[in-house]
Amino acid sequence: MTSKLSYNLVKLPLITPFTTSFGTQLDRVAYVFTLENEGITAYSESTTDVDPFYSYEDNITAMHMIKDYFSKEISDLPTPAAFMERVEHIKGHNMAKAALEMLLWDYHSKSSGISLHKYLGKSKGYADVGISIGMLEDDKLVPTIMNAVNKGYKRIKLKISRGKEARILSAARLSFPDIVLSTDANCDYRLEDLEMLKSLDQYNLAYLEQPLGHDDIVDHASLRQSMSTPLCLDEAITSPDLAREAFQIDAVDIVNIKPGRVGGLLNSLKIAEIVHNYGGHCWVGGMLETGVGRAFNIALASNQLVDLPGDTSPNEKYFSKDIVRNVFKMEKGTISPFESPGIGVIVDTEYLSMMSTAKGEIPI
Ligand SMILES: [Mg+2]
Repeated sequence: MTSKLSYNLVKLPLITPFTTSFGTQLDRVAYVFTLENEGITAYSESTTDVDPFYSYEDNITAMHMIKDYFSKEISDLPTPAAFMERVEHIKGHNMAKAALEMLLWDYHSKSSGISLHKYLGKSKGYADVGISIGMLEDDKLVPTIMNAVNKGYKRIKLKISRGKEARILSAARLSFPDIVLSTDANCDYRLEDLEMLKSLDQYNLAYLEQPLGHDDIVDHASLRQSMSTPLCLDEAITSPDLAREAFQIDAVDIVNIKPGRVGGLLNSLKIAEIVHNYGGHCWVGGMLETGVGRAFNIALASNQLVDLPGDTSPNEKYFSKDIVRNVFKMEKGTISPFESPGIGVIVDTEYLSMMSTAKGEIPI
């Protein structure tokens, strides 16, 4: 079998800078992987970025792990499950693992002639869509929410950070008393901020996402006892075991599943199952992916076990021109996954090449 693995490091400017508690992002800088074998071309995207702010992984560590450890495990095109078994002894580096795990999902669903959302099983055939709005100045916040409400998003999520929460959430609730509103603190608080966090109950939020440390579940369990707002975990849930433990110690109501963070789609599905069995809820998050990574998220978000709207906006929210020719369209707050085999996107290889700051081949 002669398979070829190649990569492009693509840099796409974001239409709107995205500000969270850990900084402002102006571009999406992503490794896009291409696997070619006997007429099938599969794609994936690493959810890492330039900086290790969301997690400890970044583009450089991901490429190191893929080149030096993970790529040699895909030469015989194993199933995603077999690949994950082979790399289980390598600790962490979930985003790097996920980049190749998802590449194998695209490859195998394409070679079976089945769209990825069906190949994953139990598809609803659509994903419910919410929006994640980065921190904005007062004069831009309300018009941005209004625009999102008018577009039909099923949930509005606002990023907050320490000291800015009251301004942002009260402005939103004053203008929009009845919308489904949630907020994401991206780990900016500690248990010492309990009184401040309890004050967020007044905003009638669908949930408060990851207020405490990125690797904490124990303090989240304490916090959950003191608040009426449901708690959602994002950064802290990096494996199916941690999802189970978080429910066992009553640290969580809702899980934001990001395939990259948890090591790929197989673990994402396992987590969705665990969440369901504990009576919790889940949705699919995003990492400002290009059209390639976005297609995996939409396929996963179409799963029956995913029961809340995710951060899976159509491509046009992020990029004036994406690296795919077919972009997702949102209708009445839902997006349908593509029905052609695999992730179903048609990569604009010319534009991908044009927007790449590096490219090359990885021997497998
Ligand atoms: Mg989050």
